[in-house]
Amino acid sequence: MKVATLACRVVEHQWVSARYKYLRLSCPAPLARHTAAGQFFQLACPVSEAQAPFLRRPMSVYGIGPEEDRIEFLYHVKGIGTRALERLRAGDALTVTGPLGTGFAFSPDWKRVLLVARGVGLATMAPLVPLAARAGVAITAVLSARAPGELMTQEFLRGAPASVHAVFDSDGSSAVERVEPLLRNLLDAERPDRVYTCGSNRLLALLQKLGAHGEVALEQQMACAMGVCLSCVRLFNEEGEKVFRRVCCEGPVFPLGAVAGEVQFG
Ligand SMILES: Cc1cc2nc3c(=O)[nH]c(=O)nc-3n(C[C@H](O)[C@H](O)[C@H](O)COP(=O)(O)OP(=O)(O)OC[C@H]3O[C@@H](n4cnc5c(N)ncnc54)[C@H](O)[C@@H]3O)c2cc1C
Repeated sequence: MKVATLACRVVEHQWVSARYKYLRLSCPAPLARHTAAGQFFQLACPVSEAQAPFLRRPMSVYGIGPEEDRIEFLYHVKGIGTRALERLRAGDALTVTGPLGTGFAFSPDWKRVLLVARGVGLATMAPLVPLAARAGVAITAVLSARAPGELMTQEFLRGAPASVHAVFDSDGSSAVERVEPLLRNLLDAERPDRVYTCGSNRLLALLQKLGAHGEVALEQQMACAMGVCLSCVRLFNEEGEKVFRRVCCEGPVFPLGAVAGEVQFG
């Protein structure tokens, strides 16, 4: 589907934890079939006139299908845009632009995938879960959060079967030196066909160190999200060369091994 700007309506909007909110929209066009896991939309958050003109905010698609004209987001309420978004009620209007960017690669022929998510990265990777479950591909998930109350395992799996390893800042189990042997064991014992990650610079670096084969979805700060303003460029290694790529349109999904240097997460 071509990128479109769509006047949507809020169908459902509710808190799922102290900081995260679930948003379901009805759209004027069938979106779900044309939207891939890992792609995102720019949301025109309804800020006050005093705050306009206002950049749209990028949000990954959290849920796609089976209703063709519905789309779901799961977001962290953190700043001006998401605080304005948070106030929307069922029936309110919201304009979104998308689907944008490249999605995750997936093959139904695989045997097992390993999903490594932290914080809001969980929303970006969630559409991979039904994709794998429907295809009979086994799922192992390493989920990292500040504390057990923020993990959102149910929101991530939505009833799909998976082997889940939860790690937390609150008990120190999310520390790199504790996660490293866990990931090393999973990679050695389960030999996943693909590893996916999103939401943590440290987990990305760790997976790179362990030589994991897979993809990362980057959450680089961005403005236009159309490839024009170049505010989201990042450095990548490609065939021995250092190259700049725009996260909004060449990404946000990239090969794990290609990301060079520090990644900034909000
Ligand atoms: C491709 C992509 C997908 C994303 N998916 C999700 C998602 O599914 N759920 C979710 O909660 N968040 C997601 N984010 C992060 C989300 O866009 C920011 O949290 C949001 O823009 C913050 O807006 P704000 O006005 O509330 O916060 P503010 O801090 O007031 O925002 C200030 C500025 O910084 C930018 N910004 C702040 N944090 C980020 C960030 N982490 N990434 C990119 N730009 C940022 C904003 O766009 C804005 O221009 C995603 C980001 C990207 C790039």
